[in-house]
Amino acid sequence: MNREIFDALYEVWQKKDIKDKFWTDDLALLYGYPSPEALRSAFRRARKRYKTDNFNYHKPVNKKIFIFDLETSPLIAYTFSYFGAYLSPDSVMQTPYILTWAGKYLYDNEIYGFRLNSDEALEGNDLSIIKNLIEIISEADILVGYNLKNFDMKILNTRLIENGLKPLPPKQIVDVYQEIKKTFYFHSNSMKYVAKVLKVHQKIENEGIGLWKRCMNGDEDALIEMLDYCKGDILATEDIYIKILPFISHPNMGVFNQDSIRVCPNCGSSDIYQKGKYYTPAGEWLTYYCNSCGAFSRGKQNLLDKSKKKMLLIK
Ligand SMILES: [Zn+2]
Repeated sequence: MNREIFDALYEVWQKKDIKDKFWTDDLALLYGYPSPEALRSAFRRARKRYKTDNFNYHKPVNKKIFIFDLETSPLIAYTFSYFGAYLSPDSVMQTPYILTWAGKYLYDNEIYGFRLNSDEALEGNDLSIIKNLIEIISEADILVGYNLKNFDMKILNTRLIENGLKPLPPKQIVDVYQEIKKTFYFHSNSMKYVAKVLKVHQKIENEGIGLWKRCMNGDEDALIEMLDYCKGDILATEDIYIKILPFISHPNMGVFNQDSIRVCPNCGSSDIYQKGKYYTPAGEWLTYYCNSCGAFSRGKQNLLDKSKKKMLLIK
């Protein structure tokens, strides 16, 4: 099934009513398939091929949100001990530098990926790929990543200052790892485990430290492999982010919208409806449900009138 047919069918399929029989002879005939079963299985295969088992298919690219991930070289140091070594500053031979980075705008098919070339890897010179990264992330309003706050942003800041560059403009950050730790109780909070449990895009495996050693020896194939690994992390991070989105507290997407309409604070969709109320010690608030991502939110206006507020007692 080609993309064009698939897209047309997918649109109808999304709007189907579960009460009605969807895979009919007429539908099969319309799309040129011998039977409803043949059409259905071709559609199922196409959904896998076009990554549509995923919930993010057909959503417009969101250029406000950029997901990214860095891979760095390890710290290299002399040590006399196998276990619990204390590394004095004098024993450090090489501080980490960035080997590759990958990133994408939310829901975009294109993945940006930059890596050091052989000479840069040997020299530990990551200046050019850092400049690429800054240029792209400066355009976004919200940065998303896995352990972004404690790893990628700190590494990036360190590489900026060590390369004599200026700080990034301020950005909102969604650290998927920290949000998962705050909100859920998974057996492990590693990307690999969470991606597996949530049945989303899986991380790519790599050979471990051997790959890093080859990268630092300027092996082009290893640097390409590292970039592929990094891109795999991006797809897993995006999928996990979309899955957890309705559960987490997110930078308010409403502030990026100039129109005076209510939108979901988590995903920015205007497909929301008022559903129930929320009470705090100080008042009564309307709650809203987002049909797009499933997040609940609440209005900012206290429904209690002045006289009622005056009479409230709190403990
Ligand atoms: Zn939403």
